[in-house]
Amino acid sequence: MLFKTETLSVASNNQQGLEPNAITRISSFRQVYCASVAYERQGAQMDIRQQKGLQIAATKKLTQSGNRWFVPSQSGQRGESYVVVPDVSNPQCNCPDHELRQVKCKHIFAVEFVIQREFTFNEETQTETMTEIVTVKQTYKQEWTAYNQAQTQEKDQFQTLLRELCKGVGEPSQTIGRPRLPFEDMIFAVAFKVYSTVSQRRFMSDLRDAHTKGYISKVPHFNSISNYLESEVMTPYLTMLIEESSLPLQAVESSFAVDSSGFSTCRFVQWVEAKYTNPTLMTKREWVKVHLMCGVKTNIVTAVEITDRFSGDCPQFKGLVETTGQNFTMAEVSADKAYLSSDNLQTVVDHNAMPYIPFKSNSVSSSRRGTPSTALWKQMFHFYSFNQARFMQCYHKRSNVETTFHMIKSKFGDALRSKTRTAQINEALCKVLCHNLCCLIQSMFELEIKPEFWAEAA
Ligand SMILES: [Zn+2]
Repeated sequence: MLFKTETLSVASNNQQGLEPNAITRISSFRQVYCASVAYERQGAQMDIRQQKGLQIAATKKLTQSGNRWFVPSQSGQRGESYVVVPDVSNPQCNCPDHELRQVKCKHIFAVEFVIQREFTFNEETQTETMTEIVTVKQTYKQEWTAYNQAQTQEKDQFQTLLRELCKGVGEPSQTIGRPRLPFEDMIFAVAFKVYSTVSQRRFMSDLRDAHTKGYISKVPHFNSISNYLESEVMTPYLTMLIEESSLPLQAVESSFAVDSSGFSTCRFVQWVEAKYTNPTLMTKREWVKVHLMCGVKTNIVTAVEITDRFSGDCPQFKGLVETTGQNFTMAEVSADKAYLSSDNLQTVVDHNAMPYIPFKSNSVSSSRRGTPSTALWKQMFHFYSFNQARFMQCYHKRSNVETTFHMIKSKFGDALRSKTRTAQINEALCKVLCHNLCCLIQSMFELEIKPEFWAEAA
């Protein structure tokens, strides 16, 4: 999100208006910003402090109070931050690097990346106008009425939406054992259970309530719910429902972000099992890793993959992009540098979208050692190197995928109750599905969207 903070006019005789050396002459109060303008114009390489500054600007939340900026410390403790005064001629920071060497430190650079100044020259009035643009991390403009409505009606709305969604699944060709409930009731019960975040026994009154309201045809025994959760049949259906539940926001989302995060599994059981039967479990089964792609406006999850904790992020990228590409028109895809590869860049471009994946500090224009560089890699590397400001504006949106994980974990917990691998995967998927339904409910009130599922099937 961009907004103009102030516009200052400065008299100038400079016809060109934008020449770096001319700007330096005009007025002292913006000398400090000339450097960044100048290096960008000259296409100069960034030095190490600039690079680190860019990294801070992209990953940390900088806050402003008057003319002072607070920049979180990268190495220090949580909550510790340095105070930067981005004064035009004499920028100051209270970090050791600046105080000792009296050079522009990474914190000052970080602030300067956040404050971008643009110069435009008006021929008629012979004045040069400086516009200050502050790039801030994208945040929701909280609409309290809509938010309150969404929150107070969430549980009812949730069940209505979940019911609508489950109606479309049909019966799988082979069900486990002799199912006492139709498959759509099973999925409803399992997802609603995860939404409730309470134990199986305590969840039963919620489920009886749902039955009274007609959301399910029968009330299952509480043991049945964990049996359903352990069923492998569930997994592809839950994945499908997550994708289906994102579709009502097709018209809203065009920028997407990818990331992964771990959900811890029940430690006590593992500890016992690992200690007495299978020591390798100690390290192997500690986490379930969720890879997801989400829309940056509403945090809706458009594609999800689940792996064990050791699998890398990079290989999951393609599948997530392709799944989203089937349902959405993508304009931008951002991801952190763990996802950087020629193939991944190509996948995004193949979907007519722009990849915003930062290059690593050791990346060179000629791709990885040994592998032949693709033309696309070179092109993206040069875009990244010479359009840092533009790149960072788009890359900022990536922080929304972190928000998505935070939303899921704070609402539905970051630990998994289930004991078996399949159940853990299903439980993690249920958390994502519940998150999506909550995003839809929020969008119903904020964006006045009326979700409908299975449009083509109807
Ligand atoms: Zn500093």
